Amino acid sequence: MESAEIARRFLRFFEERGHTVVPSASLIAEDPTLLLVPAGMVPFKPYFLGQQKPPFNRATSVQKCVRTPDIDEVGKTTRHATFFQMLGNFSFGDYFKEQAIPLAWELLTKPESEGGFGFPQERLWVTVYQDDDEAYGIWHDKVGVPSERIQRRGLEDNYWHMGVPGPGGPCSEIYYDRGPEYGRDGGPVADENRYLEVWNNVFMQFQLSAVRSKVDFDVAGELPARSVDTGMGLERMAAILQGVDNIYEIDTTYKILDRAAELTKTRYGRDERADVSLRVIADHVRTGVMLVADGVLPSNEGRGYVLRRILRRAIRNLRLLGAGEERYMHELTAVTIDVMGEQYPELKADAPQIHGVIDAEEASFLGTLRTGTAIFDVAVEETRRKGKGTLAGEQAFQLHDTYGFPIDLTLEMASEQGLKVDEEGFRRLMKEQRDRAKADAAAKKTGNADISVFGQILEKTGRVEFLGYDQVTAEAE
Ligand code: ATP
Ligand code: MG
Ligand code: MG
Ligand code: MG
Repeated sequence: MESAEIARRFLRFFEERGHTVVPSASLIAEDPTLLLVPAGMVPFKPYFLGQQKPPFNRATSVQKCVRTPDIDEVGKTTRHATFFQMLGNFSFGDYFKEQAIPLAWELLTKPESEGGFGFPQERLWVTVYQDDDEAYGIWHDKVGVPSERIQRRGLEDNYWHMGVPGPGGPCSEIYYDRGPEYGRDGGPVADENRYLEVWNNVFMQFQLSAVRSKVDFDVAGELPARSVDTGMGLERMAAILQGVDNIYEIDTTYKILDRAAELTKTRYGRDERADVSLRVIADHVRTGVMLVADGVLPSNEGRGYVLRRILRRAIRNLRLLGAGEERYMHELTAVTIDVMGEQYPELKADAPQIHGVIDAEEASFLGTLRTGTAIFDVAVEETRRKGKGTLAGEQAFQLHDTYGFPIDLTLEMASEQGLKVDEEGFRRLMKEQRDRAKADAAAKKTGNADISVFGQILEKTGRVEFLGYDQVTAEAE
């Protein structure tokens, strides 16, 4: 089943059950607490919080998502992409657990010929929040999932919030057992590679006032209404339904991966390190294209930096596969626009603009790499000669300050050489530099205020003392 068809099926199922189909919002979050949209519920946050009245009680969408924190997992696990699409059904104060759970089960297990995804029941496992006896009961008594395949988990896994203040609540996740060739028995608690998480059903019930970490937050109280927010990973569904090992090998992403392999004359599936690079390239080019299409431009801060980092990682992984001075991003961008174009036709119309941004970033980064890499190599050699395992903070600082190497890049390149970086030293030097710049600016400012003017006034008028609104004495008179 093609990715585009998975999306169509999901939307149709929920549309037939009274949900309004809402188009994906831009990746650029309107919500000022977020840089990029990490989940399907983000555009609906004001409805969950009761800040706005929703125009519908039920909605369904395929939301474009970017999760930067997952960047280090990309290519190494079988299930993490930086850009992915979240299929979701939402209830705003309408149905709650008793209906959401059976609906999810129905869609997953209904035969393909009847518009479902046709998963065999015995392949599905579910988890519930440890104290959520209600959800447990619905799975067990109403849906009929045997207790061996229902697991209870804690806050870390089965309580969902945005990572910032907002709505949240216990959740229930659905996993697909890919079989013993993918890992050990024992359900998702034992192995999340074998048991692939495909769908999260969140029971929005609380308002969180502060969020310090996944498991450490303050609950301000109950939301005005109980709601449902679900998120199913389109790419993970595609991996299962297309019978491939990981989300980088699905219909859309694999074409990018394959082109990267062809361009760099690398055979996929031979060497794990090269495979990781190919997956990173495919994932990051895809993410880069989707971000540029939504209007993000490379820069040194905020979402612009997310984009820059992602594009530069793709470019560097091409070098790791021996691309040398060749420029391959144009071709990879073209394939991406082509494969994602079925679901996102606007990509084709915006192709010249997308190419322009990505080509320019490649040209400038290749320049940076050309000079910086030579300096980096010298630093590595020096470190080894001294018998040390850590690049000095000064070296990382010089690479940053003079050659435009972001610290992430230095860290990554060092780790490829089996070296660490004195990050603390680097940050100290950065701070010293910032403090110097601040002091300079402050000195300039006082200079600009031009104290001599006061001197001149004093000369002319003598010291003037303000004593109130009705009396002014000039001392020197
Ligand atoms: P995981 O535990 O595998 O990291 P998660 O619990 O962080 O996933 P949720 O926040 O529950 O994920 O998101 C809902 C769904 O979105 C997941 O069930 C999964 O199908 C999908 N998903 C989440 N993160 C990613 C990702 N980085 N790449 C692809 N799909 C993802
Ligand atoms: Mg995650
Ligand atoms: Mg999870
Ligand atoms: Mg989850």
